[in-house]
Amino acid sequence: MVDSTTAMPWHQGTWQALVTQSHFAHAYLFTGPSGAGKRAFATAFAAWLMCDQPAGGQACQQCRSCLLRQAGSHPDLLSIAPEEQGKAIRVDAIRQLVDFIAQTAQQGGRKVVLLHPAEAMNQNAANALLKSLEEPTADTYLLLISDQPSRLLPTIRSRCRVQPLGAPDQQQALAWLAGELPDCSAEQQRLLLQMAGGAPLRAVALQQMDALALRDKVVEGVKALLKGQISGPRLCEQWNAVPVELLLDWFADWTLDLLKLQQQAQDAASNADMDKVLGYMAQRVQPLALLHWQEWLLAHRRQFDNKANLNRQLFLEKLLAEWKTLAERR
Ligand SMILES: [Zn+2]
Repeated sequence: MVDSTTAMPWHQGTWQALVTQSHFAHAYLFTGPSGAGKRAFATAFAAWLMCDQPAGGQACQQCRSCLLRQAGSHPDLLSIAPEEQGKAIRVDAIRQLVDFIAQTAQQGGRKVVLLHPAEAMNQNAANALLKSLEEPTADTYLLLISDQPSRLLPTIRSRCRVQPLGAPDQQQALAWLAGELPDCSAEQQRLLLQMAGGAPLRAVALQQMDALALRDKVVEGVKALLKGQISGPRLCEQWNAVPVELLLDWFADWTLDLLKLQQQAQDAASNADMDKVLGYMAQRVQPLALLHWQEWLLAHRRQFDNKANLNRQLFLEKLLAEWKTLAERR
């Protein structure tokens, strides 16, 4: 798995530029797409900042500080995240941060706070953090990580040094995935990377969710639906194990393919496993109907991203009914 004290290979240039600086900001905001390696970068930077004898631009992994950190018991390192994934970071957590910052470093070195994902802070939490950002403490570093920095208070963004961390190009990503997922074929690695929107760590997470098998099942189901071999509600039941998030991603991706095919921006669907279906649909679907469908889909995706309560069964039945109508309408 990913070594949490090394930046990803595609971030090495940024890493070298950062650790060779003579002066460090007291607060950093690491931004970039999900699954591109921001957390690995920030964790590695925390390790490097805290190491007693960093060598070759890396934490040594041997000093007292490194050993404490590896054991998860370094008193001068604080990690803040939502109590549950997808939930807010509350003001209590930020109060803990404020107390931590006020203390003297117990090991006599630097103190570091990792905060991820920063956009999960609710309003009160963000306001509480602002005070700490306004009054920096010596030898204390705040490392904020965010996929969606636009959702942070501008006053928070402006008090941090923003460090963008992008995803690698496809070639670099595939080279890395070949090492991470030796049991997958090159074709599977390519498909996983595509499903992950080019973010390699997300591709690995998808593999761990068994996304390839789920995908086969969904593609097969969509084909059967369009051939009238199965009803929408029955298909929804078959997809019980498929996260809605994945379905939304895939339908959105197929829709993009349809748009590009219609506009002749590409000759074949980028989703090879749906190429025939999408090619057929692209010839039949009315452009306006396609745009309406895309709007409908994106609106529901936003609702889902905002943690709105979607009734899974009702939503998916509606989605499949809309998709089928789209394919049949002339
Ligand atoms: Zn060390």
